[in-house]
Amino acid sequence: MPEIVCPECGGKLQYWKEYLITKTQMILPDGSLRSSVKTSNPEIETMQGFECKRCGWVFNTVNEVNFDGVEHLMEWLVNHEGELKV
Ligand SMILES: [Zn+2]
Repeated sequence: MPEIVCPECGGKLQYWKEYLITKTQMILPDGSLRSSVKTSNPEIETMQGFECKRCGWVFNTVNEVNFDGVEHLMEWLVNHEGELKV
């Protein structure tokens, strides 16, 4: 089993996921803004992947079509899906 490290530099990886959220702020009829901001729950997942903090290597599992050399990372993702908190 290959190590779960950056394929470029061997550095530690972190898992990331992007969400689509909406922020809204009320406008009063006189044009002034309410100070409170409402944020929607991050329900829609857009992209996810891996990132190396050392060299900046980023892998986006949604956009990438070439999984050569990162098959073990995809396998890790499937095996750890229940543990991911982001
Ligand atoms: Zn790296």
